[in-house]
Amino acid sequence: MNINNIHYLKSALMKNLHDLHLSSCKTSAEMKTEEKLFPDLFDQATAELRRSIALIIRGREREMIREIEDALVRIDRGEFGICQNCGDRISEKRLWAKPTSLLCLACKEKEEGEQRRRSALNNRAAMSLNNSWSGEFEKEAEFFPTH
Ligand SMILES: [Zn+2]
Repeated sequence: MNINNIHYLKSALMKNLHDLHLSSCKTSAEMKTEEKLFPDLFDQATAELRRSIALIIRGREREMIREIEDALVRIDRGEFGICQNCGDRISEKRLWAKPTSLLCLACKEKEEGEQRRRSALNNRAAMSLNNSWSGEFEKEAEFFPTH
């Protein structure tokens, strides 16, 4: 990516970061005003629901702030657009779509494939654990014949 495009992305990221800081302050301020107790149970439930939604939003905002700050650090270090896994260049198309990308498309797809495999393995492990549990219960059932 040429230096002009990187400068353009940098200012876009900084603007984005500024907006995120503003909205994150707003979310925190809203959460504070929601903290007062409501005498009405329904109001209280609504306030709790709004509070948990605000917590999710704040978490996501913080995550995005961190991702953008990391991308800005990589720009300053001259490491922007370099895959953190294989060291290859990340395609410009991918960087324009998501300037905070850490991996090239090939590494990202590999990572997603591994995550899918891992969750499939976890599911299988959980299933065999369930089977051994029911096996234990069956064994126990033999000690206590029902007839
Ligand atoms: Zn890569």
